[in-house]
Parts: sequence; C-alpha cells; structure tokens
Amino acid sequence: MNKTLIIGAGGVGNVVAFKCAMNGDTFGEITLASRTISKCDEIAASIKAKIGVEIFTAKVDADSVSELVSLIQQTQAKIVINVALPYQDLTIMDACIECGVDYLDTANYEHPDEAKFEYKLQWERDLKFKEANIMGLLGSGFDPGATNVFCAYAQKHYFDEIHTIDILDCNAGDHGYAFATNFNPEINLREVSAKGRYWENGAWIETAPMEIMQVWDYPEVGPKDSYLLYHEEMESLVKHIKGLKKIRFFMTFGASYLKHMEVLQNVGMLGIEPVEHKGMRIVPMEFLKTLLPDPASLGPRTKGKTNIGIFAKGLKDGKPRTIYIYQIKDHEECYAEVMSQGVSYTTGIPAMIGAKLMLEGKWRGKGVFNMEQMDPDAFMEELNTQGLPWKVMELEADEDRVVRV
Ligand code: NDP
Repeated sequence: MNKTLIIGAGGVGNVVAFKCAMNGDTFGEITLASRTISKCDEIAASIKAKIGVEIFTAKVDADSVSELVSLIQQTQAKIVINVALPYQDLTIMDACIECGVDYLDTANYEHPDEAKFEYKLQWERDLKFKEANIMGLLGSGFDPGATNVFCAYAQKHYFDEIHTIDILDCNAGDHGYAFATNFNPEINLREVSAKGRYWENGAWIETAPMEIMQVWDYPEVGPKDSYLLYHEEMESLVKHIKGLKKIRFFMTFGASYLKHMEVLQNVGMLGIEPVEHKGMRIVPMEFLKTLLPDPASLGPRTKGKTNIGIFAKGLKDGKPRTIYIYQIKDHEECYAEVMSQGVSYTTGIPAMIGAKLMLEGKWRGKGVFNMEQMDPDAFMEELNTQGLPWKVMELEADEDRVVRV
C-alpha cells in the first residue's frame, strides 16, 4: 500500500487531504502534517465526518530538514505533497533527497526576506534528485499547474507552433468582506504588489505594479478588469513551448480590493522589513495577515465562479489559429464537496492529480520537472473526472476576447 505525506494544513491542504482520501486506492495511508497540529486534526475530523475516511496527523516544523527527515522516515511516505508556504520548498526538497522519496509542490520558492520568486534554486536540485533516483514536480496547482498543462495540451493537439500565450486568471467570486485574500495573504499580497513583467522576443519587460490593465471577456462570467502581473509559470513556459514569441499573465481584481491594496501600501502595511513597535520588532505584512480573514474560512461565504485559462495564438498546418482552453468552477459547489472555496479547490485538485499520476507511474522521471514537460493527456483526463472539467473554445484566427485596452 502507498503512503502519502501532505505538509501544510491551510485552505489548499484541506482540499488535498480531502481529495487524496477520496482517491484512497492510490494514496493509501495518508498523513497530514503542519506547524499547528490542531488545524490538521480539524481537517482529519471533517474528512472522517463527511466521507468516513481516517487520516493520520502530525506536527512538523517544515523549516527544519531534520524534523522533516524523521517524519518522512516515520510515515514511510512514498511521496511528499508540499502545500505549506513557498518559504519551505527547499527544506522539504532537501529532506526528500535525503530520504529518497518523490516531491511535489504548488508554488515557486521564495525567501521570506525578499519578495522575489524564481526557479533557480529548485532547478539547481535537479542533479541531486537524479542521483537519489527520485522525481520532483514543481508548481502542480492551477496557475502554475493546470495552466502549464493547458499550454502543453495546446502544443500537442492544436498547434505546430504557439506564438503568443495570455494566461488569464479570473476570480469572479464574492465573499462579502471589503478586503480578504483567497489564499495565504502574505504570499498573495507580495505577488500582486510586486512589479509586473512579461516576456517578448526573448526578453523580459518590466512594468510598474498594476500598470497594464485590459478588460477581457470571460466565458460564463463576462468582461472583467484584468491586470498584468509577473507569474512564475512564465519562467518555465518560455523554455519549453516551441516558437513562443510573447507570454503574459493577467489576473482580475475588483475596485474594492485595489483601493484597499493602495491604502495598505501607502501606509506601509505591505512592508516585509521588521519595524520597531513598543520595544518589539514586527513585520507589517505578517501583522496584517493576523488581522485579515483566514482564507480557509471564506468557504461557506463565497459565491460566484472562477474562470482560468490560456488564450493562445499560433500556426497549425501553415494557417493561423486562436484558441482559449479554460476551466470554470463554482465556489459553492467546491464548498459542498470539500468544505472549501474555489481558489483552494482549484489549487488542491491539480496537486492531488499530479501526485496521483506520479504514484501510478503515468508521470515518471528522475530529476526536477515543470508540469509542461510531462505528457498532458492523462492530467487533462483526470481534471475532467476529479472536479475541474475544462473546455476548448476555437476562435477566428484574428479574434481576441479583449473588450478594452
Ligand atoms: P495557508 O496559509 O492557508 O496554509 C499554509 C499552511 O502551511 C498552514 O497550515 C501553515 O501552518 C503551514 N505552514 C507554514 N509554515 C510552516 C512551517 N514552517 N512548517 C509547517 N507548516 C507550515 O496557505 P494556502 O493553503 O492558501 O496556500 C498553500 C500553498 O499553495 C502556498 O504555497 C500558496 O502559494 C500555494 N498556492 C498555489 C496556487 C496555484 O494555483 N499554484 C494558488 C493558491 C495557493 P500554520 O497554520 O501554523 O500557519
């Protein structure tokens, strides 16, 4: 029987634990471990109550390689699914190398003291993964994750060459709060307050934060203000997609979210440098996280849909072609199934699927991989049956879905 270790018991950890338990034939004995064990116990209790499956729980500080190594040895896990924070990626990867077990994550490594993410340090571990005869799968969430697989699927089935890709992330959900983030507030706010960046003709072009806005028309959702951000999947896609000339990433934000962000930024609440406060040193962003609603608590109050996809243009048989591959998910449906809102759901399902394909031997390799390096077909089939069915829209070659620039 397989044994599976999940690290991180936040919104995403809840979905991964639920869905691994629902796919017990593959995942076998499941342990959910995190820094605060009471959160693991709460998730384990709701899984037991809702679907009658027992999972184990454990406490671990995932910043400590030695603690991780003893936990992996104790659980005899065959794979570690890392859904803690990006700060823990390297320690968890190193523990997997030491124990000789496979690794999967959903977010690019980031150092807590610098709001910057890149694959360099994770890709550098490729040789060690090869030497340990294990596989590491990076970025198996929705974006990165399913969006990378959509690109690989487009490359395999729809194009000879893809020239431009726009990754579109629309969350049209409403949780009723004036301001809250749908995943870890610190990671989310670091990402959206950073400078924007896109890639064209071999070079990265930097923009001011939120400088570029376009109104895109999302199927089943309608037109939404969409802002250009830098997003990690672009770093690997520019290496792996044939003939690519340009790639950008857009995310939708509502007026209230942006107004709050602007004010928080102006008063210094998004700072990641410690400040002195009544004899204590506190990091403003960490304090803000304490004040904001826990993303895991948004589940019962979020209504509306997510629509995430890739809009691609290129050539097939010498003729221009344009397609949009996308997935739409209803927040309330997610809550009914696994007691979670749509952003945690759309991240957790691809994490479970990536791990499932690795355990079943359908996605195998020695070393460290990004999602688009694997054959997309098995993953796309699993999305359809595990709760995230997708569609392909074929457009006129010169058509796009931008309503206003
Ligand atoms: P949460 O903040 O809700 O949960 C993070 C969990 O990790 C918490 O249980 C936290 O423990 C635990 N944790 C943090 N530090 C440690 C540590 N040192 N040791 C052990 N456990 C630790 O985050 P989310 O569930 O919203 O997000 C999880 C991951 O998913 C993040 O990396 C995020 O960037 C990624 N993500 C990826 C997306 C994608 O599409 N690819 C989209 C959304 C998120 P504690 O409870 O004690 O704080």
